[in-house]
Amino acid sequence: MKPKKSVITRRPIVVGNWKMHRTASDTRDLLQDIGTRVSRIANMDLVACPPFTSLPAASDALGRHGILALGAQNMHQNKEGAFTGEISGSMLREFGVRYVILGHSERRQLFNETDALVAAKAITAVDYHLRPIVCVGESLTQRQEKQTEAVIESQVRASLAGFPADQIEELVVAYEPIWAIGTGKVATPHQANTVHHQIRVLLTQQFGSKGADVRVIYGGSVKPDNATALMSEPDIDGALVGGASLDAKAFFDIIESARTLRAS
Ligand code: PEP
Repeated sequence: MKPKKSVITRRPIVVGNWKMHRTASDTRDLLQDIGTRVSRIANMDLVACPPFTSLPAASDALGRHGILALGAQNMHQNKEGAFTGEISGSMLREFGVRYVILGHSERRQLFNETDALVAAKAITAVDYHLRPIVCVGESLTQRQEKQTEAVIESQVRASLAGFPADQIEELVVAYEPIWAIGTGKVATPHQANTVHHQIRVLLTQQFGSKGADVRVIYGGSVKPDNATALMSEPDIDGALVGGASLDAKAFFDIIESARTLRAS
């Protein structure tokens, strides 16, 4: 029998990462559709992360759908300054943003973000009362060369270096194997849970017993037909959903999987 999850501390969380999709007016329509579907959901955290330019429209639309929180897909590590094209924590807060995805593999690979940069952003995020969703994950080559464990250990330690232990409840870690993002290839529940368990052990080593209560969510081709199997694993507390979060019904079905598991 699988060990039980802590139902008090590790509240399930499902996050939609819209990436560079949806204009502001499309955002209103999609949030209206999602909001109507999730209106009866309780005791979970649900987060939509649209592009920056959609945040005002999203903030407006979410006011009518209390259960959905707003997230951003990135932020700058400095409070303000001459950083052309960047967005600060206070700018996100102004639109009611509560979460921020940091160190997504697309940011790491395409925009050269390093663990040290992610660590600096995570510290700034909590200064602004933003909950960081810090992403880690190995490439296909690293997995094939049996380096997954070493890569995850080094990413978790370095991406959370200096993170304030008294803010640890605010942290969410996302395990996203790069080979599973947007590819339709999904980690098996066992593969994913093995890494989630490792992350939980690392968090406990770094932050003490409260580290064990940090929510660790899985991302990488999560769809309605694989969500239940993944989220029923003991160390998987929810999902970071890319493609399927742009389809209101698919996103709702994934949320329903998490809700049903929680209720059972
Ligand atoms: C993601 O964007 O973080 C992601 C996991 O995408 P997808 O669900 O499309 O694989």
